[in-house]
Amino acid sequence: SLDAAWADRWMRAAAAAMAENRQHLIDLDRDIGDADHGENMDRGFSAVVEKLDADGTPATPGDVMKLAAMTLMSKVGGAAGPLYGTAFLRAATAAGPAPDLDPGTLVTVLTAARDGIVARGKAEVGDKTMVDAWTPAVEAAQTAAGASASSAEVLAAASNGARAGLAGTEPLIARKGRASYLGERSAGHLDPGAASTVLILQAAAQAAE
Ligand code: ADP
Ligand code: MG
Ligand code: MG
Repeated sequence: SLDAAWADRWMRAAAAAMAENRQHLIDLDRDIGDADHGENMDRGFSAVVEKLDADGTPATPGDVMKLAAMTLMSKVGGAAGPLYGTAFLRAATAAGPAPDLDPGTLVTVLTAARDGIVARGKAEVGDKTMVDAWTPAVEAAQTAAGASASSAEVLAAASNGARAGLAGTEPLIARKGRASYLGERSAGHLDPGAASTVLILQAAAQAAE
């Protein structure tokens, strides 16, 4: 079940994925940005794990997301820090005090995270940002939940949707963020923030298995 222990495993799995993919994210960001995304995300999620170790696992999944929001907001920096911070803060609010997220609440949580990123960064689908991974993730989660999938299956669907969205960023010309300075030269590269979004959602699914 998607309880606080799951959310704790999620953050640790995300931190492990950021450490493992640090260089890959740096390389993606070198192509169309300033080569710091891997460093930013690794630093942020390491800090989340340190905070969980120091404080112990919070009482609810929403509390874990709130801890992540505050930590990512202060430690990631760049464009991604405030965006992921807002995503996790909105997710925490949507989760509320529930000890366990049912599939319907989970969809609400994922939708709130995506809407938070859009509210903060004003990117639309097709602008070659993390929104291009979050939006198909949310749509796939909605479809799965509508077909009576379990919470773990909804997360697997979201993760697959994000992965497809990431692949779709390759031909796009960036219209938001640092990559937009490159204009047409941003085409032919995957978006780094969409890649880190895949890692985060994969970690959520993995933690629910
Ligand atoms: P910076 O560009 O400040 O160095 P990062 O490298 O950590 O920040 O993050 C870059 C990622 O942030 C991009 O790959 C993109 O996915 C995301 N991003 C940038 N601007 C926006 C925005 N306005 N809306 C949504 N996502 C954005
Ligand atoms: Mg960068
Ligand atoms: Mg930077």
